[in-house]
Amino acid sequence: MAFAIRLKQLNPDISVCVIEKASTVGAHILSGAVIEPGPLDALLPGWRSNPPPVCVPAGEDEFWFLTRDGGYKSPVVPPGMRNHGNFIVSLGAMCARLAPQAEALGVEIYAGFAAAETLHADDGTVLGVRIGDMGIARDGSHKPGYTAGIDIRAKVTVLAEGARGHLTKRLIKRFGLDAGSDPQSYSIGIKELWQVPEGRTTPGKIVHSLGWPADSRTYGGSFMYHLENNQIALGYVSGLDYADPQYKPWKPSSNGRTTRRSSPCSKAAASSPPARVRSSPVAGRRCRRWRCPAHC
Ligand SMILES: Cc1cc2nc3c(=O)[nH]c(=O)nc-3n(C[C@H](O)[C@H](O)[C@H](O)COP(=O)(O)OP(=O)(O)OC[C@H]3O[C@@H](n4cnc5c(N)ncnc54)[C@H](O)[C@@H]3O)c2cc1C
Repeated sequence: MAFAIRLKQLNPDISVCVIEKASTVGAHILSGAVIEPGPLDALLPGWRSNPPPVCVPAGEDEFWFLTRDGGYKSPVVPPGMRNHGNFIVSLGAMCARLAPQAEALGVEIYAGFAAAETLHADDGTVLGVRIGDMGIARDGSHKPGYTAGIDIRAKVTVLAEGARGHLTKRLIKRFGLDAGSDPQSYSIGIKELWQVPEGRTTPGKIVHSLGWPADSRTYGGSFMYHLENNQIALGYVSGLDYADPQYKPWKPSSNGRTTRRSSPCSKAAASSPPARVRSSPVAGRRCRRWRCPAHC
């Protein structure tokens, strides 16, 4: 969406079209993220006076090493975890807020249409995408509302499908785009949005942890972002290179909530049921020095 806005800012005369598989922009964006506002300031200088619904200035940072019985708060917050000047946002709400601004600049947004394959010239050049057929029954037959997918051709096609996008994967393979690069590593993030009793949150507080419930051979860590209205975004990220085939990424996430005594989790979130649970793959290059759970 940011790319579409920028293109129109640079050249209002070109035609820019965004295809989004979700029924509305932002509906398939899962992350409650801490973002650096610099790029947004450059793209839309007035955004701070009209912020998206979830947008909390980052406050205090904490970094914990958790154990089964509690945890130790690090006296030093690693550089990559220092969030002064950043904002905790819901990326879904942020994208939904960007969509009308893009449309106001003339960007055409087609929500509810998934690109199924890329179109190519004889020499392999990408010419656009083909939208998937709609109205196909499980057995492959056409339902009454069947509509054949159309081709959308463009001078430039930008794929922004997120981690492990299937069109991107095919192009990487076809054109060897990853040649000479480090292999991509993947994690899976389990995120919950908690409504906690009054007085347990400090809006803007950001807590990251390493250690328990992951064992010493498994890469993983938690994040906890204190929002407004007594809400907390709480999550656990597990590296997908775990050796134990029985490992279930959701399990450390729920175990992590049971840690006792001094952990930040028990203080803020204990005994409150999760309001929403969502999971999504996350791609990132690991910060090897700090084994950063948020891939920042
Ligand atoms: C729980 C969690 C917490 C995170 N926390 C942070 C954080 O604190 N800080 C941080 O920097 N990052 C964080 N991340 C990572 C960050 O959210 C992602 O890196 C980022 O959202 C990726 O942006 P993207 O635009 O590449 O893809 P996405 O945000 O995944 O957007 C892809 C879009 O493309 C659409 N799409 C996909 N395929 C198609 C198709 N074939 N046709 C049409 N539309 C399609 C999707 O519906 C979606 O709207 C977190 C991620 C998770 C899951």
